[in-house]
Amino acid sequence: MLLIVTYIILLGLIIGSAINAIVWRLYVGRSWVKGRSVCPECNHTLAGKDLVPIFSWLLLGGKCRYCRAPIHWQYPAVEAATAALFGLSAYALHPMDAWTWVRLVLWLAMLTLLIILAVYDARWMLLPDKIMIPAVFLGLVYVVFEALRLHSIMSARGPLLAALITGGIFYVLVAASKGRAMGGGDIKLAFVMGLLLGLRGMAVALLVAFDTAAIVGLALIIRHRRRLRGTRIAFGPFLVLGTVVAFLYGHAIADWYLRLNGLI
Ligand SMILES: [Zn+2]
Repeated sequence: MLLIVTYIILLGLIIGSAINAIVWRLYVGRSWVKGRSVCPECNHTLAGKDLVPIFSWLLLGGKCRYCRAPIHWQYPAVEAATAALFGLSAYALHPMDAWTWVRLVLWLAMLTLLIILAVYDARWMLLPDKIMIPAVFLGLVYVVFEALRLHSIMSARGPLLAALITGGIFYVLVAASKGRAMGGGDIKLAFVMGLLLGLRGMAVALLVAFDTAAIVGLALIIRHRRRLRGTRIAFGPFLVLGTVVAFLYGHAIADWYLRLNGLI
């Protein structure tokens, strides 16, 4: 098990590095399969030694080897976070047979899309459809897979219901705030969360998302003395955090958290 977790942490480092590249290429509109990575400042093609996750950034002191332009700390942070979440996923989902392995692989694919969405939203306040649509599709695949794994078509009803209810609630929130509080991407993300988590898990994820967003929002207001109105923080990263917590540790947290919040 330890060996599996170690391998998946290494895989997470590589995927984290790819996530950084994909986020940037999505933003500038470059093809994200073709072409080599370049420094966004000096356009110098990056060599293999510049692209080793985390270590290149540390060894180069957070600067480009060619033009010395500072490289955002987002790059090593995303790599470290992806590796940690991959390792945690392997540990929590504990793959043993073909079913649990497929479940882990589907989740890691979804986790990759979710991290791309969270990083993109944190930087540019947008959940791009190029990632969101595959996430919706993968969510539907996951519901079918779970129904097969549990030998029960009926078991798909909970996740579908959760997806429609939370998607619907977010639609109302977006419409009522005329897109100021959240955007259309949040509606699709809520739909995907329902597919992954079902009703109970969805409740956990939303409570975690709203609580952490409130804490971070308050911290920002205190630190920057910003006024409450006019301060905007992207909600996508908090939804993604809630999804990860609920998917990996939902059952353990659900009872405690739901009781705390008067839901059971
Ligand atoms: Zn450069």
